[in-house]
Amino acid sequence: MEERRIPNLLLHVVFQQVSDLMGEKSLAMLLRQSSLSTYIDNPPSADESPAITVQEYSSLLAQIYELFGPRGSRAIFAQGGRKGGQELRRLHPTRYNLAGAALKLLPENKRIELILQKVEEEGTALYGNPHHLREEDDAFYMEIHACPYCAEIARRAREGGPDVSHPVCHIATAVYQEMVEWGTGHSHPVQETACIALGDPVCVFRVAK
Ligand SMILES: [Zn+2]
Repeated sequence: MEERRIPNLLLHVVFQQVSDLMGEKSLAMLLRQSSLSTYIDNPPSADESPAITVQEYSSLLAQIYELFGPRGSRAIFAQGGRKGGQELRRLHPTRYNLAGAALKLLPENKRIELILQKVEEEGTALYGNPHHLREEDDAFYMEIHACPYCAEIARRAREGGPDVSHPVCHIATAVYQEMVEWGTGHSHPVQETACIALGDPVCVFRVAK
């Protein structure tokens, strides 16, 4: 992972979910454990100014996994992903409004494809790693290479840290689900079918048609 920095918005969203679900004190503990205590008194802004590196973001997510366990972290990541999707549309109104107007004229499958293409571009722009979208008969599949959501969880598991028995990239799952629901007006189940933290070579997300 290169020294690319994520926007403050993403940190803002993650901190908000930790605070809402686990409380102010848990957030402060998490930030101290993650060497991010400077944010305790200076919360990140909800904009695109540069915050921590992708590597540091990955470590923060691993610390959340370690501190709150698979179940607690899942709630934080899933809620963060939903909120993150909404915030990205708020920040990039042109990108998504154009998509929104065009979407209404298209059949459902094309709508899903178009919105996932936007999310694919957005993901690569945010983290600098490849995202690949492919279509099969029953579903779209998004592949994330060098996935920042689980890179550090995977590394810690290999080195004797917390065990991983299920996929952990719930942020991505929730972003895809939220975006596709927004773009089509219908809920389409999204499932992470392969995860680097489980030993798979890439993380794969299945978006049902
Ligand atoms: Zn992953």
